[in-house]
Amino acid sequence: MRAVVFERYGETPEVREVADPRPAGHGVVVRVAATGLCRSDWHGWQGHDPDITLPHVPGHELAGVVEAVGAGVTGWRPGDRVTVPFVCACGSCPSCAAGDQQVCERQTQPGFTHWGSFAQYVALDHADVNLVGVPDDMDFATAASLGCRFATAFRAVVQQGRVAAGEWVAVHGCGGVGLSAVMIAAACGARVVAVDVSPEALDLARKFGAAHCLDASGAQDTAEAVRELTGGGAHLSLDALGAPATCAASVNGLRRRGRHVQVGLLPSADGTTAVPMARAIGWELEIIGSHGMAAHSYPPMLELVRSGVLRPGLLVTATLPLDRAPAALAAMGAARGSGVTVIAPWS
Ligand SMILES: [Zn+2]
Ligand SMILES: [Zn+2]
Repeated sequence: MRAVVFERYGETPEVREVADPRPAGHGVVVRVAATGLCRSDWHGWQGHDPDITLPHVPGHELAGVVEAVGAGVTGWRPGDRVTVPFVCACGSCPSCAAGDQQVCERQTQPGFTHWGSFAQYVALDHADVNLVGVPDDMDFATAASLGCRFATAFRAVVQQGRVAAGEWVAVHGCGGVGLSAVMIAAACGARVVAVDVSPEALDLARKFGAAHCLDASGAQDTAEAVRELTGGGAHLSLDALGAPATCAASVNGLRRRGRHVQVGLLPSADGTTAVPMARAIGWELEIIGSHGMAAHSYPPMLELVRSGVLRPGLLVTATLPLDRAPAALAAMGAARGSGVTVIAPWS
């Protein structure tokens, strides 16, 4: 098969022929129809992810068709249209037994712990625990965007954030996760303040239902601006970018007893992130982490997508062939992307 391979961190990857993957007994091989390009792929390529060993094939936001099935898989067969959460759970550890596959103790992540989906085929573990059926009327580019950013945003806003209609929700960072969060929170009846440094990202946020858009590139104090716009602070606030400054702005922009959800990944290379804990104590804030979403939690989200309440397909702004994936990956470092680029390995 053809795949995007890198031998050294930060060196432009190559598209070349590599051996086809084979399914584990509990796993499947999926023929990749679409795979999203994500900032985590860029971080992995830069050497910021300790799970990666070289040479490596990135890619973790995928959708496609089951090609081959391991002997122990009972729920899936070749030809099934599927996607997968970026956290693939083991199905048998205490967290999995409790239904919390998104924090599985023996998780694997395609594109991080093993070769990913910037390739014509990808192997996925524990298929019966992790695969999610893609409805026939959902295109693969849309389905690919569910596995990482959209499902992640859904869990952060709805399950971890416990959003309620009429609440103020601040979203710091309007990349893929942030724009998804804006759309989801607005669909839940919240009033959304979108914060970003890019006018294009804020334009998209407005289109996806943000009531207010805040340009964070100026000298103003972002947290103070959010508190002013919301009459005292957001009820729920997300750092969807993953940076010390956006984390602090998110916490400081909350009202008393507000909820901060950290959903943007904080790369280990940047060290430990300081959180304004004095404010958390004095105002009884909740500081909550959110990590992907388990496969069994997908059906309510899929139903909202099918009914048109949520439209993740709107996030997809470009579709590229595999040959253009290396350049697109490299370009992610410089540009703060607002839309979602999807790679189609067979085009
Ligand atoms: Zn991702
Ligand atoms: Zn597990």
